[in-house]
Amino acid sequence: MSELKIVANDVVVAIDYMLMVDGEIIDSSAEREPLEFLQGHGNIISGLEQEMLGMEIGESKEVVVAAIDGYGEIDPEAYIDVPRGEFPEHIPVELGVELQVQNEKGEPAYARIDKIESEEVQLNFNHPLAGKELHFSVQVIALRKPSDEEVEHGHVHDHNHEH
Ligand code: ZN
Repeated sequence: MSELKIVANDVVVAIDYMLMVDGEIIDSSAEREPLEFLQGHGNIISGLEQEMLGMEIGESKEVVVAAIDGYGEIDPEAYIDVPRGEFPEHIPVELGVELQVQNEKGEPAYARIDKIESEEVQLNFNHPLAGKELHFSVQVIALRKPSDEEVEHGHVHDHNHEH
């Protein structure tokens, strides 16, 4: 059995990473275990996944991902104005407050308060990182072959939970 040395599709990749947006660190594996994912199955941001292909164990890379290949562009339709009188009393009306509502299908949708006016509160349903260029620093820590079940499911299984 040959050792895996290069990131390829259907390989489990463990990376250390840092994500910076607008010059600020948004997320990092520094305080955690490396992130494991199954290459080629859309487990991570597509723009990053494409750049991972062909990387070697130990290799580091800076990857800039455009919004369209990251969390998407800002959708101008994804804003809803709610009359203040209809706003639930237990939710503080403050800029940036996040809330969960149900869409027409009864699925949870996440929004945050974007604008507060005398009569209306504007909810923004865009992902907080929509429209943002993502700056990743990644290093390949380890590679391994996935189990048959992991390939079948299209994602990595860890020891704590099977799904
Ligand atoms: Zn699974």
